[in-house]
Amino acid sequence: MPLSLYVDGPRWRDHLTATVAAQPGLVPVAKGNGYGFTVGRLARRAEWLRVPVIAVGTYREVAEVERRFSGDILVLEPWRPFFTDVPYGERVIHTVGRADDIQALAARTVRPRVVLEALTSMRRHGLPQTELADLSWLAVNGRAAPGVRLEGQALHLPLGTGHIAEVERWLATVPARRWFVSHLGADELTELRGRHPDIEFRPRVGTALWLGDRSALSARATVVDAHAVRRGDRVGYRQRAVTREGSLLVVAGGTGHGIALEAPTAAASTRQRAVALARGGLDAVGRALSPYVVDGKQRWFVEPPHMQVSMVFVPAGAAVPDIGDEVDVHVRFTTTHFDQVVIS
Ligand SMILES: *Cc1c(COP(=O)(O)O)cnc(C)c1O
Repeated sequence: MPLSLYVDGPRWRDHLTATVAAQPGLVPVAKGNGYGFTVGRLARRAEWLRVPVIAVGTYREVAEVERRFSGDILVLEPWRPFFTDVPYGERVIHTVGRADDIQALAARTVRPRVVLEALTSMRRHGLPQTELADLSWLAVNGRAAPGVRLEGQALHLPLGTGHIAEVERWLATVPARRWFVSHLGADELTELRGRHPDIEFRPRVGTALWLGDRSALSARATVVDAHAVRRGDRVGYRQRAVTREGSLLVVAGGTGHGIALEAPTAAASTRQRAVALARGGLDAVGRALSPYVVDGKQRWFVEPPHMQVSMVFVPAGAAVPDIGDEVDVHVRFTTTHFDQVVIS
């Protein structure tokens, strides 16, 4: 009973090739649910794009890309001595975010390839400015730790624009020839490249690459059951009473697929929050608009989604799809696990 992601292949591939062509040195990011596509599928696509490096979120994801992608694999999560699942292959590039870790990593494996991460205004991982500068000088001179091969430094910036001043502050003290950068705008990159022709900037891009042309993507859910209901009928786990005559549709997609999950950070304004709720969040009183669109309208959940399916109510008078038909579903691609991805 599939929840499906349909991809207009020619459109999607055109967008991918155009994006890579427009951004020299782009490093595709394939992580998590693979932006709805799965990490494995994105790895194959990165191979098709002929890029030399792919980035994954975690060490565990290396296994999903290494057989499908032949280039280097940059791991975004910083290496930690307590990690037990680290693949130390020649193609793996480690991110180092603490001075002590570079020693520990060099003790663990021969000639590790590393990217030194800056602790930016994101405050997620990385080395503060003086530490990064010091360690970078040592690494450049081959004295950071035995055998360490420095691949570059990394800046992970917050979403939005206005990053130039922060980038310039790092560039001013850190002796880097190659910066891996995240969330710099195209204009900002152009400006920085113009100012620093001697430095290689390599943007790490996920969303704007894989999901950059939304018109190429559509999510649809199969109707797996339908029941006529009358006012007063009790339905579902919670035995809630139906308040009017209509149809109860059982549609593919439940909590296991990430239905009704929202990444809360996406909703900065009140309006965005309202939209996020409408896209499938559950409200406090238990009645929530579902992300399923039937006869042109998003329909109410009868109750919170189940693991594999959701129950939605369609009032009498609306056109009811047949069992086996598909309905549109407005999901967030980065939180949805589709049963199948169909690329034309
Ligand atoms: C996820 C991630 C990216 C890609 O982010 P998008 O917004 O999907 O382009 C880049 N850099 C780092 C460090 C990340 O964790």
